[in-house]
Formats: sequence, C-alpha cells, structure tokens
Amino acid sequence: MTKMLKGIAASDGIAAAKAYMLVQPDLSFSETTIDDAAAEIERLNDAVAASKKDLEVIKNKAAENLGEEEAQVFEAHLTILSDPEMLGQISDKIKNDKMNAEAAVKAVTDTFISMFEAMTDNAYMQERAGDIRDVTKRLQSHLLGVTLPSPALINEEVVIVAHDLTPSDTAQLDRKYVKGFITDIGGRTSHSAIMSRTLEIPAIVGSGSATSDIQADQTVIIDGINGDALVDPSADELKDYEQRAQDFAAQKAEWAQLKNEQSVTADGKQVTLGANIGTPKDVEGATDNGAEAVGLFRSEFLYMDASELPSEDDQFEAYKQAVEGMNGKQVVVRTMDIGGDKELPYLPLPDEQNPFLGYRAIRISLDRQDIFRTQLRALLRASAYGRLAIMFPMIATVKEFKDAKAIFEEEKAKLVADGVKVSDDIEVGMMMEIPAAAMIADKLAKYADFFSIGTNDLIQYSMAADRGNERVSYLYQPYNPSLLRLIKNIIDSSHKEGKWTGMCGEMAGDQIAVPLLAGLGLDEFSMSATSILKTRSLLKKLDTTKMKELADKAVSECETTEEVVKLVHEYTD
Ligand code: PEP
Ligand code: MG
Repeated sequence: MTKMLKGIAASDGIAAAKAYMLVQPDLSFSETTIDDAAAEIERLNDAVAASKKDLEVIKNKAAENLGEEEAQVFEAHLTILSDPEMLGQISDKIKNDKMNAEAAVKAVTDTFISMFEAMTDNAYMQERAGDIRDVTKRLQSHLLGVTLPSPALINEEVVIVAHDLTPSDTAQLDRKYVKGFITDIGGRTSHSAIMSRTLEIPAIVGSGSATSDIQADQTVIIDGINGDALVDPSADELKDYEQRAQDFAAQKAEWAQLKNEQSVTADGKQVTLGANIGTPKDVEGATDNGAEAVGLFRSEFLYMDASELPSEDDQFEAYKQAVEGMNGKQVVVRTMDIGGDKELPYLPLPDEQNPFLGYRAIRISLDRQDIFRTQLRALLRASAYGRLAIMFPMIATVKEFKDAKAIFEEEKAKLVADGVKVSDDIEVGMMMEIPAAAMIADKLAKYADFFSIGTNDLIQYSMAADRGNERVSYLYQPYNPSLLRLIKNIIDSSHKEGKWTGMCGEMAGDQIAVPLLAGLGLDEFSMSATSILKTRSLLKKLDTTKMKELADKAVSECETTEEVVKLVHEYTD
C-alpha cells in the first residue's frame, strides 16, 4: 500500500528514486573478553582496510566536487588510520587485556581525543580530536557490520531521507545521483532548503516522520511543488508522476523563453529580478536563469566551505569572480552572517539558548573587527572589477549601521592611500530583517544607500516563530497584514530619501506575494535563481495601478493572511 507523507514544499520539481537513509546507525556494542587475540586483531585489520577503502573513494569524490582543500580532511583521516602508535596501542589492548576490538578501539581513541581536546590554546590540535572521532565512527561501523551513511559514496539515483540536513551536508550532495530529498524537520527558509533550490533538487522538509516512515531502498516520489511524498507507489501512481514531471519540464521550457527579456509589468514598469547566491560558482545558475543582478551573495558560505578563516586574497578572488561573472550587473555582497543555523567549525561560538537571537552576523563583525576588516578589504579590492555593492546583515539600530559603515570607510581610505584601485561608487546598504529596524526605516534611510528586506528572518522575528521549526510553521505567514505593514514602511521610507529597496528573502519569489510587493513599490526582487523566470512571467501579467490598489486594501482592510490571499486571487485570477 502506498504511504503518503505531507511536508513543506522546499524546492520545485518532481522526482522518484530509491530511498537512501542518511541516518546515523546505532554504534553501541558490549565489552567482552576474547580468547583468540590473533583472530580479533585480524578483524581489526580488516575493519581498518575497509575504512581506508571508503575514505579513498570519499577523498577522490570530494576533490572532484568540492576541491582539493576539502579533500584534505579525508587525507587527514587516512593518516590517522595509518598511525602505528594508535593502531599499536589498540592491538596491545586486544592482546594484553583480552578486550574485543570495539572496546579496544574505544579505549584508545577516547584517550587520544581527550588529549587533543585538552590543548585549548591550539585550535589545530583541537580539530584533530574531531577527525579522530569521525574515523572511529567509521572503524566501529565496519567492526559492527553496520552501514555508515556516506553521501559521497552514492553511485546510483537516490532520494535522500534524513532527520535534518545541515548546509554543509547539502553542499556535498551530488546532483547526478541525488534526485530529491525529504527531511523530518526544517522549514522552507532553513538554509538547507534554500540550497536545495540553488542546486535545483526537488525537496520536502519538515515532514515530521520521513525517517521512521520510509525504509532504505523503498521507492519514493518527491513532489517538491506541493510538498507530498509517496512511498512505495503503485504502477499507476508512478505513471502519473512521470506525466507531472513532464508537465513541469514543459512549463519550465516555456518560462525559459523569457531568459533574455526585461522584467516589466503589463503597464511597462520596470523592476529588477536578481538571484541569491552562496558561492561564485552559483553565478552560472543565476545568468542561466536570466538574473539581472545578484541581490544577495551570502558570503558566509565562503567561510563555511573552508577549514579556517578565508584569507583576504581568497575572498578577493571569490568576490572578483562573482562581479566579473555578472558582467557589469550589480552584485550585492552581504558581509558574513554566521550564527543561527550557520556555524563555523573553526570559530566556535558560545553555546546559547537562542542562537537566532544571539551573537551572530553584524554583532560578530563589530566585535571581531579583525575578521570584518579582512572581509571589507577583500570586497573593496574586488569592487574595481565590476559593479559591487555591500550590505550588512541583522542591523537593529542606527548606531550599528553607522559603526559598520565607519569601519568600511576607514578600510577604504587605507587602501586608497596605499594606491590600491577601489571603485568610488560602492553602494553600502543594509538588510532589513529585524522589526525594530523596520520601524525606524525613515531614520536608517538617511544613512543606508539601499535596503534589502530579509523576510526569512523578518517574519520569524515579527511573529516570534522559529523559521526552521515545522511545529510553528503555521505562524510563518508572509502575507500577514502585520508583515505587509512593515514592508510598506520600509519601502516608503527609502523612497522618501531617494533610495531603493530590494527583497532577498524567499518571499520575493513567492507567486502570491509578488503582486502585493509590486503594488507596494518594491524595486528589486532577489530570489533562488530557479524562481526568476516564473516571476518574470507573472510580472508581465500585472498592472501596477491595480496592484497598488490591491496592496493598499491588504494593508489597511485585511485582518488575516487568509483574507489577503483571497484578495490577491480576486485581483489576479
Ligand atoms: C533573510 O533573512 O531573509 C535572508 C535573506 O537572509 P538569510 O536567509 O541568509 O538569513
Ligand atoms: Mg537573514
């Protein structure tokens, strides 16, 4: 019997393939006394050999897909597995203490891990503790005969089933084999969902129970448009899926005709449709989808993709590549927005009860000016190679903006004094994602060159509903009149000062929101690249005067989200 699962539609598209469970297996074991030490050591050696074999494959895949630097991690794992000191100690425990291999591995690796972790003044050695932990897991899985999920080893078409995916898990998915994914937790704007859209992998998040309702190798249909998954579908259901996948492909082909057209409404008002990117590599997807700008370059992904803070030169190369790739079109780079669900293994943040309300984004940058200034210098240098703009994330107060801008001006002056070429018209703006800032948009508009509304956060902060928590996703209401009022205040305030407002939260590509945003006078819409062409197609059908009437009514007359949605349909259907 087919099982149907309902989740949150996270990335458009329809796919069907065998389930691959990305779930951590049970690695528990009992400690036993063994008789035959030689046989136990042989078992250990076999497990070491099998682990090495896995790691060789993973290392080569990582080098191919992610680059040599990422592959170094696995080289380090291989070195640990060849360490005569550690392996010798494990064999000794088997021989002398008659321990089973699992227990001997645990005893020895625990000692090494504690030793490295104690080196609190040596970040490099502390990281080695994490490497030993990873290697031990692999070794134990081979000893216990259970499979450790390794996405890099996938070599057939699959749908990934996971409790959750971190942004770095998502970055490692190989599009050739991973046809879709479904998770238990997460929301439409959690970063793994956003990345699945960039990778164009159909996805469902927040299903609640995928990992318990789906078993390895069962066929799963992922409908990322509606958020439905079918497990063990019938032949008829599979046929229907194929038809819908074809319809979706045909629809995409129709939108593709608009790739080189401008983004204009039915009555001729021009707006900018931009793409959100995470790395310079995403520029190709942006231009392929007809982006007229990059409205948000999430620079923190450069930091997340590295094993240490990226140098000024490495960052410069990345920003330069992005502006050059966009060929004169504007690229808005957001300074590092770490914190919340985005972590840096090499920059441990204090444990906090509310990371989304904690030490993050501009708060870290203003505190760790060494990191901030390095990033600003890299950006300033890259500005000479195209049209670069900068914005600061999570600005809550006028003082934060002024402080950040002052540091930017200082670094600019230093570079100019040193004779380094820097563009003299870099726009410096800010994200509008905190309700307090939205309420004083009139004040902030005097200092910022532009605003970019980050609705992913603005919604969660104004509704006090975690963007990644499926239990409160009913409160995550982009069309709620409260949010529309904040947006209106931001746009109107910027226009009064002769500035522009963009939106880089996912709402900018939401087909119900677009008519409202067009009516509110939004100047730039920036979204996952894959939403650009359908938005261009929608805008062509909208009349600005009518949309302004719609937006005014929604803001002043509607009480609920449902009323707003009904009104949008009345005005657009
Ligand atoms: C936002 O908050 O809307 C945004 C674009 O930033 P991020 O999703 O990276 O928090
Ligand atoms: Mg944000």
